[in-house]
Amino acid sequence: MIENLSYPLFAIPFIGVYLIVLAFLFGAVFASFITCTAWRVVRHENWMMGHSHCDTCGHELSTADLFPVISYIALKGKCRYCGSKVPPRDLIFEILLGLLFAGTLALHGAVDAVVIATLTLEVLLLGLSLADWDSGVIPDGFLGAILVVWIITVGFMPDMRRYAVEGLIASVSAGLLMIIATAIISRITGSKLSYGPSKLVMCLLLFLHIRGACMALGIAIVTGIIFALVCKAKNRKISLAPAISIGCIAALLLADVPLFPVG
Ligand SMILES: [Zn+2]
Repeated sequence: MIENLSYPLFAIPFIGVYLIVLAFLFGAVFASFITCTAWRVVRHENWMMGHSHCDTCGHELSTADLFPVISYIALKGKCRYCGSKVPPRDLIFEILLGLLFAGTLALHGAVDAVVIATLTLEVLLLGLSLADWDSGVIPDGFLGAILVVWIITVGFMPDMRRYAVEGLIASVSAGLLMIIATAIISRITGSKLSYGPSKLVMCLLLFLHIRGACMALGIAIVTGIIFALVCKAKNRKISLAPAISIGCIAALLLADVPLFPVG
C-alpha cells in the first residue's frame, strides 16, 4: 500500500533534511534519464536500449561521464574524448529537477501517494516539454505514461472520491473546450493545429481539484503567452507543452498550501 509509505517529514529534523537532499539527488538522476529519453524519442531512436554518446564525435559515454551535475563540472563542460563544448542545457535541467524534487517534498512535508504522483509527473513533464520544444510534437507515449500514473495512484489519494470526480470534471470540460477551440481556429485560419496541447491538458487536469485546475490554466495561459512571444522572436514553431507543464506543476505544489486554501 502506497498509503503506508506516508511519513511525516519533519518528525525528526535530521531525517527531513536527509530526505530532502536525497530528493535533490534523485531529481538530478531522473532529469539526466528523461532528457536523454526525450532526445532519443525526438530522433526516433530506441529510448530503452542503446548507449549515450557525444553529439560531436559520437564516442560512447562511460559511466563516469554520466553522473548528473558532477560529470559536467568535473569535465568543465567538455567532452572527455574530443574536447568539444557540451551545452549546459542538461546541467540546468538536472539542477532544476533536483530543486523541484526537494521543493515538492519540503512543501508537502510527507511521503505519500500525492508526492509520488507529483514527482513522477515532474519527470514526465520535463521529458515531454523538451520533446515538444525540440520537435514541435507532444509524443503520445508521454501522455499514455501520465494516464498510467493517474490510474495507479488515484485509489491511494486522500479524499479519493472528490479527487477523482473533480479531476474528471476539470479534465473533460477544459479538454473538450480546447479541442473545439482548436478545431474552430484550424478551420478559420486554414492551418492544421495540433491536438497535443488539448490532450495534455485533459491528462493533467485529472490530478487537480477544480480550484487547482483553474490555477493551472491561469498560470499556463500567462506563461503560454510569454513562450509564444519567445518562439515568435526566435522565428520557430510555438511549443505550448512547457507552459502547460509549468501551470500544472505550480498548481500541484501551491494550490493546497495555506496561501491558496481549497474552497
Ligand atoms: Zn566528443
